[in-house]
Order: sequence, then C-alpha cells, then structure tokens
Amino acid sequence: MAHCGAVLDVDTGAIVANWRELARRHGAEAAAVVKADAYGHGAVAVAPVLARAGCATFFTAHLAEALALRAVLPEPRIAVLNGPCAAEIATYRAANLLPVLGSLSHVALWREAGGGTAYLQADTGMNRLGLGAADMEQLAAEPALLDGIEVALLMTHLVASEEPADPANAAQRERFERLRALFPAWKTSLANSSGIFLGADFASDLARPGAALYGINPTPGRANPMQPAASLTAPVLQLRDIRPGESVGYNATWRAERSSRVATVAIGYADGWPRALGNTGHALFDGHVLPLVGRVSMDLTTYDATGVPGLAEGSRVTLLGEGVAAETIALWAGTNAYEVLTRLGPRIPRRYR
Ligand SMILES: *Cc1c(COP(=O)(O)O)cnc(C)c1O
Repeated sequence: MAHCGAVLDVDTGAIVANWRELARRHGAEAAAVVKADAYGHGAVAVAPVLARAGCATFFTAHLAEALALRAVLPEPRIAVLNGPCAAEIATYRAANLLPVLGSLSHVALWREAGGGTAYLQADTGMNRLGLGAADMEQLAAEPALLDGIEVALLMTHLVASEEPADPANAAQRERFERLRALFPAWKTSLANSSGIFLGADFASDLARPGAALYGINPTPGRANPMQPAASLTAPVLQLRDIRPGESVGYNATWRAERSSRVATVAIGYADGWPRALGNTGHALFDGHVLPLVGRVSMDLTTYDATGVPGLAEGSRVTLLGEGVAAETIALWAGTNAYEVLTRLGPRIPRRYR
C-alpha cells in the first residue's frame, strides 16, 4: 500500500556489521537479542539477515515474539528471556523454543512438563529475574530438581555494564564464577552490549548484545563504535504562517515571538514519539534545525520552520537518524535510547535496505 506518513528506514547491513564487530570484540560466539521487535527495527526482517550472517542464537522476551521468529527462522536457537508459564509450556516443545528458566518455579514447570533443553538465568545482583545463590545451591544439593532438564546455558545479566568503573561489574562476575563452579560443565553467558566492552574478564561462551546491534552506543561518554541502523522521517502535512503572539498546539504552551512559519509533521505520541518532547529538541531538514514547538499531540507534532529554505508541504523532515541520534532524543525526552527505539509503534512502516 502506498504510504505518505512517517517511515522508519532500517539499514540491515549496519546491523550485520554491528553484530560481526560485537562478536569479534567478544572473541567468542555472539547471540542477537531481538526482543521488542528487534528494538523497534522489525525482528522478522532483521533476524533472518543476521542468521544468514552466521548468528545461531536469538533471544526474545515473550513466547509470541519467539513464535513469530520461528516462522521465519527454522534452524537457529530461539530463547525466551521472560521464562515460561503453565499456559504456554506446551508451545515451547511444539515450536522447538528454549525457555530461559528464571526461578525455581520455572524449573519445576519445565521439569513437570517433561524437561528437555533449557537455559537457566541466575540473578547476581539485579534482583529482578533469575535464580539467586540459595536457589542455585539448592539445585546443586538436590539434583532431582533438574531431572530430565539439560541446561545448555547458565546466564546472568549485568546491572551497570555501561559504567566500567562501577564496582557492581566485578562483584557480579565474582558471584557468577561461584555459581558456575557448582555446575562446571555448563556453558555460560554473561555480557550484554556494554558488557562486551568490559574486557576479557567478561567474556563467556555466548554474549547477548541487543542495543549495540541497532547502533545504540554501548560505551556512553566515549565515541560510538557502532553504526546507527535506523532513520525516521515524516512528512510536513501543512505549513502555516502565524503572527507574533499566536500560539501553537494544545494549551498554547508555545507562543510566537515573531512572525513564524509552523510545520505540522505527521508523527505523534500514538506512534511512540515521546510526548515529553513538548517544546524540546528539533527535527532536521536539509541541514537546517527546526525546533519542536508546542505539545506533541497524538498524531501530529509541530516544528518552527521559520526561514528554512526549500521546505514545502510534503517535504520529509528527519526526526531520528543522520544528525539526530536516539541518545539525543532520549536526553531531550528524559529517557534512554532503548525506550525511544522500542516505542516506535506499528503505525510506522519499516523499510529495509
Ligand atoms: C535485554 C537483555 C539483553 C540485551 O541487553 P543490551 O543492553 O540491549 O545489549 C541481554 N540479556 C538480557 C537478560 C536482557 O534482558
């Protein structure tokens, strides 16, 4: 269908290059975390490209995400980070998916469903999801709890890997070492994107990068070693000239101080464009900066296009991409780049290159 609205252009070549670079730096296998629709980039399109490049293990958060992937990825391992529930347990076996067992209840569920291959997540400091040290010691003391279960990977997740100086990193690595010593035969997985950059001490059998695959900087404060992979553009639906003193948008939160030209752009918070951007940040057109003015509304956002040459109704402005990193938008909106990308919604078609 022809489409005149906002479009997210995705450079799958950049994602593959990022995956290769992450695997190289890790020095061992790298999986691809493609939860939340590959951080907004479209998992069903991105994952097969990564699989062709040699990626053999994929992580989603939900079973439904894994099922959608299985339809396009017959061979690779697909693991579900949130773990199984009783209503879903039969589907894992039917679709050959790996549950990530993150609690003793998950372990019991998988064992009672007949067991088989699974991943096991230990919690070493996040206190979020995963078996704690006492749970792991219980598994070691009572091997019957793992009857019929083959643990193909013991994993844990770092709390502050993007901050290399944070002592939490070394503390977690040491706790993880102690847990894996209980089960020396098991393979391990430690680093997420930023963890890969913590050095050889954080290497394991399988790294689990997500964000960095999509160009989010895994080393904040330093130059971004990854290539950005997405660019969001949206059309100007209308240009209007307003007089000094006139306001723009809901509740008149912006008022023109001079004669101004306002560009109304087809993107809004229902598309995942943060409402927190009201009167903050800018779009780009042909190298010109268009400050965002007024509130972001559900389907529309307004920009000050005064004196921008060449901009016409139907022109496309760049909201994210060349010159506007996801990190920058995140700073404006008071969130992180992960949230900016994962919230880009289904109304925005993805176009692949
Ligand atoms: C999301 C997630 C990852 C990927 O983290 P990034 O910071 O995006 O690389 C890895 N492991 C687990 C358990 C996760 O939840």
